[in-house]
Amino acid sequence: MRKLLLVKYGEIYLKGLNRPYFMRALVARVKEAVKGMGGRVWLHDARIFVSDVEDMDECIRRVTKVFGVHSVCPAVEVEKDNFEEICRQADEMMKELNGTFKVDSRRSDKHYFMDSPQLNAKIGEYVLERNEDHLKVDVRKPQHVLNVEIRDHAYLYAKVIPAVGGMPVGTGGKAALLLSGGIDSPVAGYMIAKRGLELVSVHYHSFPYTSEQAKQKVLDLGAILSEYCCGMKVYVVPFTDIQMQIHEKCPDEYTTLIMRRYMMRIAEKIAEKENAKALITGESVGQVASQTLDALNMTNMVVKMPVFRPLIGFDKIDIIEYAKKIGTYETSTLPYEDCCTVFTPKHPATHPKMDKIMEGESKLDEEALINWAVENSEIVTL
Ligand code: ATP
Ligand code: MG
Repeated sequence: MRKLLLVKYGEIYLKGLNRPYFMRALVARVKEAVKGMGGRVWLHDARIFVSDVEDMDECIRRVTKVFGVHSVCPAVEVEKDNFEEICRQADEMMKELNGTFKVDSRRSDKHYFMDSPQLNAKIGEYVLERNEDHLKVDVRKPQHVLNVEIRDHAYLYAKVIPAVGGMPVGTGGKAALLLSGGIDSPVAGYMIAKRGLELVSVHYHSFPYTSEQAKQKVLDLGAILSEYCCGMKVYVVPFTDIQMQIHEKCPDEYTTLIMRRYMMRIAEKIAEKENAKALITGESVGQVASQTLDALNMTNMVVKMPVFRPLIGFDKIDIIEYAKKIGTYETSTLPYEDCCTVFTPKHPATHPKMDKIMEGESKLDEEALINWAVENSEIVTL
């Protein structure tokens, strides 16, 4: 007998001929997640197994964060020809539980000497005889299900731990996330990565107006995200010069919008360099002046790539809930200032006029500013 983790996948089931590609990617992501834990990961018969890890609880913590994993089941593996041992392990597993149960057996080995109903009956009987004082059989609505899978070996498990779901990172290409230190953008990045996209992050830093701590906060957020995304590169873009020039040369009520247009242009440039095919922001329509419909349109206009805004229809309160669930909220709410807040105008335009923007932007040397910012970005690999 040995203990292992049986990993179940979700939506990949729906993939037809492409399923092997998604499965290989998922196995690779699980391997990366448990790297350094001394374990073994393999695929057999549409199941992924992890065995021989030093710390099973930590292994579960990591694997349940891998996008594409639907649930994990701490299981025991038994020689399938040793039926007595299968029953003994079933008893071991069930004797700690109380209430109602049923046995649910499946065979991928159709030559096995018992069929599924027989397995259910025999194992159920064995368990019940030894635990009659605290367990009862209920085949319709049991509190516990003892799963028995007859494959190359027999696998038994009674506990199913839900995981994050989604698709394996990398199977959907790559996108660039505009990552601020706020609550929204890490959630937006998480949502898109969950659909199988690899992330590269872009952060605008306005040193010395924003501190080293503000930058570290963003890198910490990146590190939390990278646990789900199997690592991530962060471009820390020096933004002070651009902000100063906008502040000096452009009408006050338009500075935020022009700054946002610069953010998008730079992000697109970095995305191209990184072979990323879309941009992601944490914008939500109506949240602030720069996120009115008019403002969003004018920000969008400067890039050709699709811009994903997964939070567009979310209330702040729901985004906060989400951030708590994925573990970014605490870091996001640390007090350090963001570059957007440093030069915030008193009355930002909520119904911006294009000619005013063009007039303001005509005073800036766009190409030089953007090239300098991209070339002088610091690249941090998490
Ligand atoms: P967040 O949306 O991350 O909570 P926020 O709401 O304060 O922060 P906004 O000023 O509303 O941010 O900006 C909207 C979006 O623009 C952010 O979700 C993020 O994608 C991007 N963004 C803002 N500031 C930065 C920055 N300093 N670096 C990178 N991206 C940024
Ligand atoms: Mg926001």
